[in-house]
Amino acid sequence: MKIHQLSASEALASVRSSAQGLVSADSAARLAEYGPNRVEPLAREHWALRLLKEFTHLFSVILWVAAGLAFLADWYDPGEGMARVGVAVVVVILLSGLFSFWQEARVERTLAALQGLLPSQVEVLRDGVVLKLAAEALVPGDVILLAQGDNVPADCRLIEAFGLRINRSTVTGESRPGSGDAAPSAEEQAIDARNILLAGTSVVAGQGRAVVFATGAHTEFGRIAHLTQIGSGEDSPLRREIAHLSRRIAYLALGIGAFFFALGSLVGVPFWRDLILSIGIIVALVPEGLLPTLTLSLVLAAQRMARRNVLIRHLPSVETLGSVTVICTDKTGTLTENRMRVRRVFLDLQLQDADTPAPGHDLFFRVARYCQDLTETRPDGRLELAGDPLEIALVEMAERLAPQPAPASRSDEWPFDSERMRQSVVYPDADGQMLYCKGALERVLPLCESIVLAGGAQALDEAARAAILRAQEEMAVAGLRVIALASRRLPPDCPRDAEEQALCFCGLAGIEDPPRADVEAAIATCHGAGIQVIMITGDHPGTAVAIARQIGLVRGDAPRVITGAELRRLHPAQLQLALDAPEILFARVAADQKMRIVEALKAKGYIVAVTGDGVNDAPALRAAHIGIAMGITGTDVAKEAADMVLLDDHFASIVTAIEEGRAVFQNIRKFLTYVLVHNVAELIPNLAFALFRIPLPLMPVQALAIDMGTDSLTALGLGVERGDPGLMTRPPRARSQRLLNTAVALRAYLFLGLYEAAAALAVFFHVLLGGGWTYGMALGGDDLLYRQATTACLSAIVLLQIVNVFLCRSALRSVFTTGLGGNRLILWGVALEVALILLIDYTPLGNELLGTAPIPASVWLFLLPWAVGMIAIEETRKFFARRHLAHATEFPVGRTSVRHAPPSKEPFP
Ligand code: ADP
Ligand code: MG
Repeated sequence: MKIHQLSASEALASVRSSAQGLVSADSAARLAEYGPNRVEPLAREHWALRLLKEFTHLFSVILWVAAGLAFLADWYDPGEGMARVGVAVVVVILLSGLFSFWQEARVERTLAALQGLLPSQVEVLRDGVVLKLAAEALVPGDVILLAQGDNVPADCRLIEAFGLRINRSTVTGESRPGSGDAAPSAEEQAIDARNILLAGTSVVAGQGRAVVFATGAHTEFGRIAHLTQIGSGEDSPLRREIAHLSRRIAYLALGIGAFFFALGSLVGVPFWRDLILSIGIIVALVPEGLLPTLTLSLVLAAQRMARRNVLIRHLPSVETLGSVTVICTDKTGTLTENRMRVRRVFLDLQLQDADTPAPGHDLFFRVARYCQDLTETRPDGRLELAGDPLEIALVEMAERLAPQPAPASRSDEWPFDSERMRQSVVYPDADGQMLYCKGALERVLPLCESIVLAGGAQALDEAARAAILRAQEEMAVAGLRVIALASRRLPPDCPRDAEEQALCFCGLAGIEDPPRADVEAAIATCHGAGIQVIMITGDHPGTAVAIARQIGLVRGDAPRVITGAELRRLHPAQLQLALDAPEILFARVAADQKMRIVEALKAKGYIVAVTGDGVNDAPALRAAHIGIAMGITGTDVAKEAADMVLLDDHFASIVTAIEEGRAVFQNIRKFLTYVLVHNVAELIPNLAFALFRIPLPLMPVQALAIDMGTDSLTALGLGVERGDPGLMTRPPRARSQRLLNTAVALRAYLFLGLYEAAAALAVFFHVLLGGGWTYGMALGGDDLLYRQATTACLSAIVLLQIVNVFLCRSALRSVFTTGLGGNRLILWGVALEVALILLIDYTPLGNELLGTAPIPASVWLFLLPWAVGMIAIEETRKFFARRHLAHATEFPVGRTSVRHAPPSKEPFP
């Protein structure tokens, strides 16, 4: 018979296991035999193929054509040195291809390393003890514990199930969850049996135990690899914009090239010279390194974030993070420490501190002790607990005040979920069966008919109900979480559906969960950065407001508190209006209602980040611009739905991630500015040549040497700069703000670019005139004077770009503030610039390849004031830009004003 047709104990026997799980020695042997529970990822493209691709995209094709034309020119008109141009262009294509290939390899390696930070873990029973192991360690015969939100890590057969509902959509395509139970099945196919859980499915509700029968490549649908993989390379708005931008610039370059070719032939420039001129213009303007540098800077930002406990699952989110305008956050564990302790109890209709034994209330403590899903171990006689901190607090209280015998095995349970807000378990005892229930008072009190008092059980009258509600209120305003405990002796033959009824109210526990220490500062940062923070919690409104006050989230007297019940009544339009309140929080909200809040915020034009940990949070995590899952308390399902995972569950980590996101956008602008400046400096001399019939100041090869040689590493360095210190004191950038806005374009093209071009032309003429050249005099391509003049022009651009890289480190802050250090890549880049320009100017090989000749020291002296001047003019601009910014975006940093803060209008970002 097949495993699903056997009884649970037969199924265990069939894989030579037991209800206690495997023996450790056995599991080691099986791991050696069956291998790790892992499906090898799909074969990637061969590296050679990927390398080839680097040489075949749009920019390379343009360059190949240019090289081809140069060779053609040489063939038609030998002796003009065109072949040299062709060779150099090819060398450049190869070098830049290798550079991109290296960048991409680095991207992949980093992503793979990040993926390793989030191993999927399983609870496994071995030698009768529950362990947390990596899913890879599973072997056939292992007994695993599954609960709501878990991914099923291997093919397994249920041996025990309580209220289990399974999402099998990855396997069957059926999106409605189906039930799972442990009874033998009569189905022919394992996949149809309700007691079979296949790898790749997930637990939507309930809990159970199952025995593994197939792992890794032996599973029916080995999807583990696919499911835990971190997304990459997908298109983000930014990536699309860069692709669009660089294509536009490339076409612009082709257009301008063609225009000047036409112009050249009109004014009678010889055909081949004219052609080389247009090639020069095109080469000068094509932004070759833009896309790979963008990806790399995103990945490096993701790497920095990982060091700060934020794991990016979806690369484009790095950039979206920077424009977040509202964070919807959980309370428990994210804003608070999730380290709980029972402070007060409400017994006998009396509120008292939870530090003195309360005789006569055994039932209360029994509920606290038994109604929980903790794993208990006693390594050295002391009880150690792992699981939900709230339950740990309750058990610790019971152990402290009225120790109960360790729980036996339960006969039934109604699991907790954020919708029901309560949990019940059933234990057999000498007299039959007892049900123990705990949960939110609103969900437990209506089920209660009686109350335990010191004198015995009594009917629960209105006065007692009112007293209970008052006690809850009192504890809530002090910031305590209130849990109601109740129980019931089940009548014999009680139908399952009638179990959670006619309960006997035992008491309340008031549980303290202090706010995390640095949350207050993080929230202040958000407010300063124009980001609204909205708490969404399942807790009581009173508790929610009290905690919100403690962390500075609520300052006014009358924050708007919307409860789950009210939310259900609100029409979407009404909800949108309600969200205008300056201070708002949501309490007693079930996870599935988060979705509505997210949708309403999106409809209002917010960029929404939302946190979540449970199965029911998944839709909201997917709907938000940024879904954030908790790394510690989060379920597999939530993590998979999320764009990023907080490895420490800490709210403050979200804020640091937003800061990184803002820095990335800024960095790409710095990088863009830097590259556009040298493009202008390369273009203008070409134009001067065409318009004024002077010798060509910069040869195409020399332009390429700058684009892909000297400036390559410095540009990359700017892409990975640390963010400006003032980054989180400005409102978020508007989503519509372009990368290349007017300010960036003016600064790059008209300001720094023109200046650099002027310097390059000035030194070109300085050398020419100094060598006796007069206007109109023709110079051959191999004339020493001509070679020296172009060398001076090239050297000028390189020198000024060395200065410029430091000027570009911030669009606003003075270079004397940003300084020289702090970015190793930039320093290496500068070293490379210096080394390359020396090689180009002063070695025979450099001279041969790039048509240069050594220039005397006087030329460098001539350039010195130009370099100093560049600093001076840029410092002056920055000074006025800073003054302007201080006036333009000054906005009062306060709770209410933040919401209406204008999107950033940085004059120079
Ligand atoms: P939070 O937003 O604080 O994470 P939850 O959705 O976890 O809120 O919990 C909502 C409510 O459900 C809590 O206020 C509490 O009354 C109740 N609750 C929380 N955890 C448990 C549990 N393990 N068992 C029973 N009830 C619980
Ligand atoms: Mg919770």
